[in-house]
Amino acid sequence: MRDTERTSVPDETAQAWRRLVAAARRTAEEGLVVGTSGNLSVRVGGTVLVTPSGVPYDRLGPGDVLGVDLDGRRVLGTAEPTSELPLHLAVYRATGAGAVVHTHAVHATAVSTLADELPPVHYMTAALGGPVRVAPYATYGTPELAAAAVEALRDRTACLLRNHGTVAFGEDLDQAYDRTAQLEWMCRLWLLASSVPGRSPSLLTPAQLASTAERLRHYGRPAEG
Ligand SMILES: [Zn+2]
Repeated sequence: MRDTERTSVPDETAQAWRRLVAAARRTAEEGLVVGTSGNLSVRVGGTVLVTPSGVPYDRLGPGDVLGVDLDGRRVLGTAEPTSELPLHLAVYRATGAGAVVHTHAVHATAVSTLADELPPVHYMTAALGGPVRVAPYATYGTPELAAAAVEALRDRTACLLRNHGTVAFGEDLDQAYDRTAQLEWMCRLWLLASSVPGRSPSLLTPAQLASTAERLRHYGRPAEG
């Protein structure tokens, strides 16, 4: 990219883009996505920085900044935004999100084919707002999928997309990423516990989840230690 184009990006935006690219690479390194599947976005004021469609994350650099407004009009860069842009924008419109992470994490996607919600096997369920729902299947990149995800996210900060993957949002990228990783871990936990022949995992009661939620409100930390 030419220097003249690069200097037109404010510092805050350039920094947010660098963090977005780093987080995108982390999703691949930590096995939450394979290849170019999955996508991430972060909001800087009225601009949503978003990963482009079909570009491997290790080929994204500081000069590839790509941004759209909340109506999806490109305001920064030249690449094609992720095909899941409608999903990201719908989450921003429906919530106070500062960042959105979408992955095809394997355990979470497995659970999306088996249940209508992730059974509450762990108290971290409360950190995501309660038992994580599975949004009904719709073709990727469609407004139908975006609407189904927003519905499944009601009073939650994460959901599963049936036969597809995960969506999580947060105040910032770290929080959205952490929620994605926690969701994938809990899905793995449930699959592991429920795979023991003749046994089924004990589940937390609504009262137990409410107690955790109360503690989170006071201490603001999702995990001990
Ligand atoms: Zn996807």
